Amino acid sequence: MAPARDPIADLRRIAFLLERANEATYRVRAFRSAAKALAGMPAAEMTERAANGTLTELAGVGDVTARCVAESLAGEEPVYLRRLVATEGSDLDAEATALRAALRGDCHTHSDWSDGGSPIEEMALAAVELGHEYLVLTDHSPRLTVARGLTADRLRRQLDHVAQVNSALPEGFRILTGIEVDILADGSLDQDDDLLARLDVVVGSVHSGLKDERSKMTRRMLAAVANPHLDILGHVTGRMVSSRPAGVTGPGDRGHRARTRAESDFDADAVFAACAEHDTAVEINSRPERQDPPKRLIRRALEAGCRFAINTDAHAPGQLDWQRFGCERAALCGVSADRVVNTWSAEQLVAWTHNRP
Ligand SMILES: [Zn+2]
Ligand SMILES: [Zn+2]
Repeated sequence: MAPARDPIADLRRIAFLLERANEATYRVRAFRSAAKALAGMPAAEMTERAANGTLTELAGVGDVTARCVAESLAGEEPVYLRRLVATEGSDLDAEATALRAALRGDCHTHSDWSDGGSPIEEMALAAVELGHEYLVLTDHSPRLTVARGLTADRLRRQLDHVAQVNSALPEGFRILTGIEVDILADGSLDQDDDLLARLDVVVGSVHSGLKDERSKMTRRMLAAVANPHLDILGHVTGRMVSSRPAGVTGPGDRGHRARTRAESDFDADAVFAACAEHDTAVEINSRPERQDPPKRLIRRALEAGCRFAINTDAHAPGQLDWQRFGCERAALCGVSADRVVNTWSAEQLVAWTHNRP
């Protein structure tokens, strides 16, 4: 019977990870030597030796490596490998942590005025507790009826309400006004121009026709990016990935059930070039089921010279803490704090949104 895991592959994987982490050579060698000693050995013999404890009689196999082999043969991920994976890249963790610490606010959040689960006040208080200086409230626009998108009238009422809430919030924190406006089929934005001009921050996203063919989707996105009202291009590809950490659900998760959706097809280089030209920031959406854009596209946007916004797209207060996921992915791609618009103060951010070309 073939073993459930390949012990040699596990030994080599461990060696690779130790090398990448710049660990002492002798440690790496122990795993590479053991892999070499066992290469070509019939599975039955390996299993027998693991059972009677004679693996260590082989030149190049020590106690630690023998234990890894026994665990692999039993179908388990070796404990050594598991620990290594769990703690690898401590340098990177430091970078992601630094990026997270540099963030001073969140530019994409929802309240119960659209499809969020909580009142604006609760979202704001959670943001205060997280140490944010501002929270941009970006409820949906009218066409997104499933998400109770705000009509122009309701948005005007929301602006009055936000002004009231702001007056009661601790000093040094404020809710900035905003919208997640639908990018319509022709690339226009789903809200009145005069209202868009009044808002502090405008995030624009595609929520419909995600399977449209490439040239159509590219034209649509280029038109939106060229719109002077659009400050941040939200969840760029619209994809939904299946992986989703256990326990990641909340009252505001309506419409965000685990399901997968392919990336929409568009000319990413053309869109990112336009974002750089018009100084429109590319969102790094932190939601675990979105992880949008994928890392390869974050790298391309970075090469194109784009700015970024690392946002949660939170639909509940606890989700405001998801920024760390976005920071981790941004750090992996080499995005530095000076390229991220929400490392700025509220004043700098609003000065940017109102003075962009
Ligand atoms: Zn959206
Ligand atoms: Zn959203």
